[in-house]
Amino acid sequence: MEEIIYLGSHISLTSPEYFLGAAKEAKSLDENCFMFYTGAPQNSRRVELERMSIPAGRKYCEDNGIFLDKCVIHAPYIINLANNENPDSYAFGKSFLKEEIRRCEAFGIRYLVLHPGSRKEMELEDSIACLVLALKEVIDPSSNVIICIETMAGKGKEIGRTFEEVASILEGVGDPAHIGVCLDTCHIFDAGYEVERIDEILDRFDKTIGLSNLHVIHLNDSKTYLGSHKDRHENLGYGAIGYETLRKYVYHPLLKGIPKILETPWVNEKPPYKEEIGMLRGEYREAWRDKFN
Ligand SMILES: [Zn+2]
Repeated sequence: MEEIIYLGSHISLTSPEYFLGAAKEAKSLDENCFMFYTGAPQNSRRVELERMSIPAGRKYCEDNGIFLDKCVIHAPYIINLANNENPDSYAFGKSFLKEEIRRCEAFGIRYLVLHPGSRKEMELEDSIACLVLALKEVIDPSSNVIICIETMAGKGKEIGRTFEEVASILEGVGDPAHIGVCLDTCHIFDAGYEVERIDEILDRFDKTIGLSNLHVIHLNDSKTYLGSHKDRHENLGYGAIGYETLRKYVYHPLLKGIPKILETPWVNEKPPYKEEIGMLRGEYREAWRDKFN
């Protein structure tokens, strides 16, 4: 049996069709899974689930070869549970994340990606403890949603910039059925990991975090250099990581079955994903970005 490679991108959820519209958009870009925010990534205003065309969207996915069990919801980046100096925003973050879990269930989506957050003025250890405490409180043991902590570039006071930091979050929570990891190729490169040495990277990941905890890959090239701590995504093959290396993350036998989600920048106000995914699925490589100019 031929093995399925799961490739998708970030898709916006917009009025009037919301989930159905996003599923159609993913299909038009030749994706078989996709990721979305349940509203604007930078704020917490959310449309009621009843208006999001969820049953029609789920049916569309089923009929059109989109694997709902490989789709991903991304929590908004305003949530910061890695610092509790402001009790109100800490409490708000927890209640919002609880609602996100409920929304994941309504969509039928298992993976909820979460940025671990910024420690601000707190010590790293205290910050991790703070996040662990929040996650334990938020996790619903009866749910099958897995919160996937994203590996970060280490911009500012971001935590989760090393595999060890991510591992200590997972160990602290101690509930692999509800907590896992999303590995972002751009972020770990910007954090200083030599992404091109894929076997060493995966071996280090396995020894610290455990590969069984890896559920989502964000496949992005990087605009900046190794160890820059910048977090600036680039189109595949146009950045410092390079196409050949990124392709290896799609086909590596240890990463089979894991959805690979692109969050690369749009080109001339158009999504580049059909071209990037087409290239990854085919044997060819082309200077596709020229066509967008
Ligand atoms: Zn990412």
